[in-house]
Amino acid sequence: MKRGRFAPTPSGDMHLGNAKIALLSWLQMRAVGGIFVLRIEDIDIQRSKPEITERILTDLRWLGLDWDEGPGASEVSGPYYQSQRTELYEEALAKLAAEGRLYPCFCSRAELLAVAGAPHGLSSEGAPYPGTCRGLSPEERERRAQHKEPSLRFAIGPAAVSFIDGIAGPQVFPPGSGGDFVVRRADRMYSYQLAVTVDDARMGITDVLRGDDLLDSTPRQLHLYTALGLTPPDFAHAPLILGEDGRRLAKRHGDLGISALRAAGTKPETVIGWLAYISGLLDQPEDVSAKDLINGFHLDRISREPFVLTETMVRQLLPNTSQS
Ligand code: GLU
Repeated sequence: MKRGRFAPTPSGDMHLGNAKIALLSWLQMRAVGGIFVLRIEDIDIQRSKPEITERILTDLRWLGLDWDEGPGASEVSGPYYQSQRTELYEEALAKLAAEGRLYPCFCSRAELLAVAGAPHGLSSEGAPYPGTCRGLSPEERERRAQHKEPSLRFAIGPAAVSFIDGIAGPQVFPPGSGGDFVVRRADRMYSYQLAVTVDDARMGITDVLRGDDLLDSTPRQLHLYTALGLTPPDFAHAPLILGEDGRRLAKRHGDLGISALRAAGTKPETVIGWLAYISGLLDQPEDVSAKDLINGFHLDRISREPFVLTETMVRQLLPNTSQS
């Protein structure tokens, strides 16, 4: 049985870019009769807000994107809030530590920034970690730990990582790409890479469809799958929606929150039709329900081009302004 998921971080309202990913991952499961899981990635409790989670749930329901497992649905592979899953992350860390794959890192942010310019950095981060703390002696670790709480770093394996992305095509990341990465910060917060890998594996996710800003996180997650002896899912990374400045869609591009569109009187079918159009699933924007798109849906049909959202298009989505 196929299992997919949508995993929003409730630190900001759902916008058109997130809604596109929710729609595509929902369609991927609905087209094959799979299970669609909703997981709330609130591991960063400082930045996550319960009222945003509530709005995301409302937005998804309004768009007609239902979930089989998750908040308010079946709880068989839960809990579905990362903030309630920390024991599982600790368990995974214990396993990695037992394999000798973790080490304490005392490097400061400034020290890490100073190594900028080295090759093979994952694009989202810049330079890879040069391995400064990997070879510290046990005595040196102990000495430093008296002055500074360390983060925990995962020592990646020596092999290159390759996989076939269901949308972006074949991917190859050379050995050492990105370097060893943090799995638990000095303040004890678990990293996204660790949490998402543990959760996708524990929830039996077979197909991950997400934004292509996370494409270069995938080799890190694959390293973790291997080290933890887990079977990785198939990955598909869909192009993001960009603002006119070429940057990833965000609040600065005007109020494109799904809740805002709903409040403005936009119909969910209009939003879905428009998302389907920019994803390559419709030849032109027209009002459709999410269910209307299930038949014939396939990853091959998803456009690989990032879409630039203009202000004119935004106005077309708003009923009041498009009539004037
Ligand atoms: N929580 C992440 C986000 O909202 C998505 C993580 C994932 O899909 O792997 O961007």
